[in-house]
Amino acid sequence: MPTYGQKPSDAIYSVLTIFVNIPVKMPFQEKIIKRAVDIMFDSSRKETIINLLMLTIRSFLPLIAIFLIRYYIDRLTGGAEGGQISSAGSVTGLIIAMALIFFADDMLSSLGQFISKKQSYLLENHIASLIHNHSSILGLKFFEDPEYYNKLSRAERDISWRPAGMVSDFILFLRGVISFLAMGYVLRTFGIIPLGILVVVFLPVLWMKIRNTGRLYDIRKSVTSHSRQASYFSWLLTGEKPAREVRLFDLSGYFEKLFRRHFSASKEPEIVVVRKNSVIESIASVVKVLAFAGVLIYASVLYSRSAITAGELAMYILAFRQALVYLRDAVSGYAGLTESRLFLKDLFQFLDIESDMPHDEKASGIKSFDNLHVENLTFTYPGADKPALENISLKINKGERIAIVGPNGSGKTTLVKLLCRLYDPDSGRINLDGNSIDTFNLNEYRRLFSVVFQDFMLYYLTAGDNIRLADDAGSDHQERIRSAAEKAGIAAFLESLPQGYETMLGHHTEGSRELSWGEWQKIAIARALYRKAPILILDEPSSSLDADSEYEIFSDLDRIIEGRTCIFISHRLANVREADRIIVLDRGRIVEQGPHDDLMSARGRYYSMFTRQKSMYR
Ligand code: ADP
Ligand code: MG
Repeated sequence: MPTYGQKPSDAIYSVLTIFVNIPVKMPFQEKIIKRAVDIMFDSSRKETIINLLMLTIRSFLPLIAIFLIRYYIDRLTGGAEGGQISSAGSVTGLIIAMALIFFADDMLSSLGQFISKKQSYLLENHIASLIHNHSSILGLKFFEDPEYYNKLSRAERDISWRPAGMVSDFILFLRGVISFLAMGYVLRTFGIIPLGILVVVFLPVLWMKIRNTGRLYDIRKSVTSHSRQASYFSWLLTGEKPAREVRLFDLSGYFEKLFRRHFSASKEPEIVVVRKNSVIESIASVVKVLAFAGVLIYASVLYSRSAITAGELAMYILAFRQALVYLRDAVSGYAGLTESRLFLKDLFQFLDIESDMPHDEKASGIKSFDNLHVENLTFTYPGADKPALENISLKINKGERIAIVGPNGSGKTTLVKLLCRLYDPDSGRINLDGNSIDTFNLNEYRRLFSVVFQDFMLYYLTAGDNIRLADDAGSDHQERIRSAAEKAGIAAFLESLPQGYETMLGHHTEGSRELSWGEWQKIAIARALYRKAPILILDEPSSSLDADSEYEIFSDLDRIIEGRTCIFISHRLANVREADRIIVLDRGRIVEQGPHDDLMSARGRYYSMFTRQKSMYR
């Protein structure tokens, strides 16, 4: 936790807690405000301070202006008596002073707009990085969990406009309060009663607004999954990947219907509350108009009895009118801040999700490894009712080439993910050279592996970057990229592209080049080979490759893996016969393991799979 002593944010924090904290009860709200103010200062210290300074100055300008108007009118109408006015200077002086005040107000207002804009952009940037950094440290488990996406989407939903809203609400509120007090100061000689009425009128409005804000938040929270569904269907209708099937199967009408259903479900409850809000505001304006009329009548009576001068009449009316405006601003700003606090609550809730992977951050680097020992591993995906892996035990020695085979859904990919520690098991453990893997630094541990995932990623970057991404260590990138591409059987193709390895892939940018799925897969293989990791894992790396490419990779596996430990998964059993050990998985369990010849003579599961495949190719 950061400390909050000796920071300028401390002062603001105290002011804010006084105003913002009292009426709405919410757990942790102090912490929320503290963190919010800290975020504001961390992201845009200079802008925050300038904004606050300007805000203070601007809050007092109307007060000065109103006094000037009073003296000006009294000067003209000769309504003033006593030395007070004569010292105010000539009419010309007053006009100049008024002009200067209006000019200053205008200047500060446009400058303020600029500063606020800049501040909210910095704030948005800062909050986005907080979200990005945090989500990248979370284990994959969270990505299976709808609640994670709900939290994330609530934290992200407002990010494009909320920081700006927070800044302007903050300013609106503080300026409203200060200016209102200033007007109260002007009106103190007029009578405190009208002012009191004003406050009394506004209190219920404020209360109702805040209550509605809370409701709005609850509603938004309850419809989060509808919003997410709506954006999903919107993506299906507009995205690049779904485009083919959507057209071929003529799905746009169907998805559009689903989109509309979820979109309405996510918006309509909100509209009801917003409508209530407008009703409240209309009632409030009726009361305000009545109060204003009352003040006009009262002031006219005073003037006709010569109890006040014309200048004072003008001053009081203006001040009352301004007081109304500032009170409204303060209330709106306050309601806005309450809403922002709820947004911040979501954001902080997301940022507070703890990574559930115990590891030793400070553990020193892993120099080498001798063996990986998997013991009684059982793993169930979040939300699944039966384990994807059950009681898996196996040992992987340095330099071994291990093949994993088994039908679809038998748990091969899951085992890979657990080995790389993308998930932690329900029970059992994995030891690296005799030490449980959670005693190592997580990133260091993952650096042991290079993987071609079954559902590998396409990066819309240059061909070279696509390969180089896997490892930023070392030098001699060009040569390494070329050699990895060559081993993956894609070098000649990439070099024939118009800009060679500098060609942008995909079609996100102008002049980029789209590849076939098999070509992308070769790039993924090149990427994995590029990384200098002692363990290479290939999860069905040839699923999209033509027979020749597949043959090249598997017939020459030793050259490709360069003495590394290798775990590979393939459905073509002809590819795996050379492995030192073959592990046969079925429904999450190891049913057989051993070298090809042993498994063949055992005449078990592997034998029947192998002979069946062989007969197909004969
Ligand atoms: P394989 O790679 O052998 O085809 P997987 O390891 O991908 O099989 O899957 C093993 C089992 O776990 C399957 O029954 C599959 O449906 C399930 N499964 C895979 N991924 C997930 C996931 N992200 N969430 C829940 N269940 C999953
Ligand atoms: Mg798989």
